[in-house]
Amino acid sequence: MMPEKTQSKTIRTRFAPSPTGYIHIGNVRSALFPWLLARQQNGKFILRIEDTDQARFVEGATELVINTLGWLGIAWDEGPDIGGDFGPYTQTERKDHYLKWAQKLIDKGLAYADPYTVDEVEAFRTEAKNNKKAFLYRDYRPENPPTWDGTKPLRFKVPEIKRYSWHDEVMGDLSAGPEALDDFILIKSDGLPTYNFAHIVDDAEMDITHIIRGLEYIPSIPKYLSLYEALELQPPIMACLPHILAPDGKKKLGKRDGAKSVDEYRTEGILPEALINFLASLGWNDGTEQEIFTVDELIEKFSLNRVQRSGARFDEQRLSWMNGQWIRKLTIDDLFERVRNFWPESAEQASDEFKKQVLVLVQDRLKTLAELPLLTSYFFTEPTPDWQMINDNKQLSKLSRDEIISLLKTAQSALLASEYDAESLQATLNTLLETTGQKPGILFSLIRFAISWAPFSPALNDTISIIGSTKVQARLQLAIDTGLKEQTE
Ligand code: GLU
Repeated sequence: MMPEKTQSKTIRTRFAPSPTGYIHIGNVRSALFPWLLARQQNGKFILRIEDTDQARFVEGATELVINTLGWLGIAWDEGPDIGGDFGPYTQTERKDHYLKWAQKLIDKGLAYADPYTVDEVEAFRTEAKNNKKAFLYRDYRPENPPTWDGTKPLRFKVPEIKRYSWHDEVMGDLSAGPEALDDFILIKSDGLPTYNFAHIVDDAEMDITHIIRGLEYIPSIPKYLSLYEALELQPPIMACLPHILAPDGKKKLGKRDGAKSVDEYRTEGILPEALINFLASLGWNDGTEQEIFTVDELIEKFSLNRVQRSGARFDEQRLSWMNGQWIRKLTIDDLFERVRNFWPESAEQASDEFKKQVLVLVQDRLKTLAELPLLTSYFFTEPTPDWQMINDNKQLSKLSRDEIISLLKTAQSALLASEYDAESLQATLNTLLETTGQKPGILFSLIRFAISWAPFSPALNDTISIIGSTKVQARLQLAIDTGLKEQTE
């Protein structure tokens, strides 16, 4: 059965997370794609909380979803917090809706109370296994099921055992034989519906036009199609998104592969713009080489038929790279706002003006905001000399300690005599290259170490200028002293 595409109908898409307390990166993609589609088509995007699995329910998880989407800028038009014409938007508040639809099935003789105990079902399973058959409930339908009083699970009685064919906007034309059909549970013995039943009722009542969800739902779709038929409902357009694969590209991405929750990426200082950009690229591209997309560009260019079928490899380094690109695009004032909580403790006393100067220097090098202390602490506090850095440096390790000390002394006096604006300092440094006959790779690296003792620092003249003459002199002196001391030890 093919859903009809009605162009005139307002597009209504939804994100339907289960509040389990952890927002996997793949979940967010299942919010992003339907959101992009709704925004592009002037449609509506709905947030629905699927909390019928009480065993997995985690207190505060809905707030986490709301907060995370809010941070990402994915805004919904209807949802549990803001309401809407099709509410409530939390499944546990919709029990009467499911009962109403369940009653329709009961009235049609298409639902029955499951009379079996756990042990009986286990015996059926064993029997099927011994007969080398897949276990199907429908092979054990009770002849005279008891009247359903809510204490037993209510099962769907699949009306017709047949092959189903359907179209998936991403995966193409699909079909599955009767083995995919079974009498699944509609309402559990705790009175709550299963996902399988509840989402169909909700999508129908909420007038959802497109269901966009993970690939793992494909095997269940024939079951859903038979239920749509039984309920005389037109299925929405369906689209299943490719799996997100672990970095090795071989298996589905799991927590063990280093995939973090959205909250962790946020804490690391990944920008929401970068995360959105990255997630959009997991399984989608616009057919060009473009990698950096603003949200507006994504809204304009997104299309389900450019979503790939094969799994999308999750490459965290690519996320860092993208984040770096996004950090560079920010104005200093914007970046300054975003790094408020990321400064090293030593920066507490520093003025905003000084911090902004530092930010200008490191903006190009930051890949995550959380790298800020590593890249900037020497601007705020006196670094501790670590000669190992020099010993480990390929170029510098070729020089004798005497040569190094002598270079440091020469640099110290040249810098003492220099004006301290960035331009004059550059001239001083260039002259130093000439007088010492050294390459920048040696001389500048050495000065860099001696004034920062950090693995990398921004342009040397700018760095020296911001640290200021007094401190630069003192740091060079300390480098000389500790270098001499190490030598005699
Ligand atoms: N509650 C389901 C989940 O979190 C939603 C699947 C769907 O989008 O229909 O996986």
